[in-house]
Amino acid sequence: MTSSLAQRLEALKARIRRAERAAGREEGSVRLIAVSKTQPPEALVAAYGLGQREFGENYLQEAEAKQDRLAHFDIGWHFIGPLQSNKTRPIAARFAWVHGVDRIKIAQRLSEQRPAGMPPLNICLQVNVSGEASKSGVSPEELPELAAAVAALPRLRLRGLMAIPAPTDAVEAQRAAFRAVRRAFEGLSRYGLDTLSMGMSEDLEAAVLEGATLVRIGTALFGARPPKA
Ligand SMILES: *Cc1c(COP(=O)(O)O)cnc(C)c1O
Repeated sequence: MTSSLAQRLEALKARIRRAERAAGREEGSVRLIAVSKTQPPEALVAAYGLGQREFGENYLQEAEAKQDRLAHFDIGWHFIGPLQSNKTRPIAARFAWVHGVDRIKIAQRLSEQRPAGMPPLNICLQVNVSGEASKSGVSPEELPELAAAVAALPRLRLRGLMAIPAPTDAVEAQRAAFRAVRRAFEGLSRYGLDTLSMGMSEDLEAAVLEGATLVRIGTALFGARPPKA
């Protein structure tokens, strides 16, 4: 039986609350970003009707179409996909948050292109704690230099770190990866960061136990995505 979006959202929020409790953390300390990539605008409208206000999108063109359709909704848009330097201008103009920044060149472009009338663009630096398993993300060794450079850019606000560790079913391995992200985060305390963007449908509990403040959830909310063409 397929459950309704309302049921899945309730179940997901219950999972997050349980994880917060297990971690000894305050209820409501973890924010839910609904990852709506590949979902039609109607799915976002339905989630919005259930109170969801923040959405994550990976593909710029697809996101632009939804943003235009949903311009009259009060949505916080998060860009969570891979960043290409020829696409930074619309991203800087259309999103409140960008999660996958791992190069200074991209950050400089986003800062230069953030329109003057908008508040600074919120940035999470993507850190790669899985070594060879992932091509994107800055290494923990190179992170301090990138963080210092991004923190100095005028139209960006450095908020924290984002990570997508190599998938594994082993909860201890999930936790070890998220712990490495948290340690990197703690090493940047001088910047007053407040956001640890980590945890997806399969590993949100481990992420919350290790300090995630924001989880990015697609499948557990909207159901399985169609395979990518
Ligand atoms: C697709 C995606 C998610 C959501 O993944 P699910 O497993 O569907 O919850 C989260 N973060 C990023 C960066 C993604 O690309």
